[in-house]
Amino acid sequence: MNWHMQAIGRIESCYREKFAIPRQPGLAPSSEATLHLLPPYDHPDTVRGLDAFSHVWVLFVFHETAAQGWRPTVRPPKLGGNRRVGVFATRSTFRPNPIGLSVARLAGIDTDGGVRIHLAGIDLLDGTPVLDLKPYLGYADAIADAGNGYADDGSQPLTVVFDPAAEVTLLEQAQRLPKLRQLIAEVLAQDPRPGYADDPDRDYGMQLYDLNIRWRTQAGVARVTSITAA
Ligand code: SAM
Repeated sequence: MNWHMQAIGRIESCYREKFAIPRQPGLAPSSEATLHLLPPYDHPDTVRGLDAFSHVWVLFVFHETAAQGWRPTVRPPKLGGNRRVGVFATRSTFRPNPIGLSVARLAGIDTDGGVRIHLAGIDLLDGTPVLDLKPYLGYADAIADAGNGYADDGSQPLTVVFDPAAEVTLLEQAQRLPKLRQLIAEVLAQDPRPGYADDPDRDYGMQLYDLNIRWRTQAGVARVTSITAA
């Protein structure tokens, strides 16, 4: 069975590279993206009534990894990267159909000259093609007693601190990017390092918006050493 699908839009995201994007959307509530609808879907009619909802489901293509295909088993980071489970027991990007599913807060809709849907609390890379958008229905979609399987690893978030040099840049950027400090703290608290890496002298880097963020991790603390223009 085959279906032909077409992107309805494209994501413009604060996450400019895959590394360090949280593993699920709600983990960094300060993250933000804009979904730009593409023709012929970029008409205000297609989003009429959507503003009544607080959250939406975004169905998208893992476009950055799609060419690498899929594997029947995967080593999820939540299992320390050394135990294999079936691909359908994971939210891995390497799937037979490279489709992702994320819930996001609906932060606003702009229908002036096209349709732009503002989203918050996302795990989407910049440029991600979007296949569909649906309202999140609390009465049906929220399952209070749902379990987390092996993803319930009890890991503690890291404490995040900023060196003086990073504080200076945060101050300089405060007007343009008021949530930057919070976003960095939320992302680094998840400890984006690969499971096997625990070298306190190793520098890590990620790009958020047009900024390069560098940090080191030791004894449960992520220390942001610099924030510079990308
Ligand atoms: N919430 C979605 C789901 O469950 O289907 C995505 C979960 S997946 C584990 C999250 C990871 O996908 C992020 O950490 C990021 O590295 C990766 N990712 C996000 N957008 C992507 C894209 N367009 N192409 C490839 N990987 C992407």
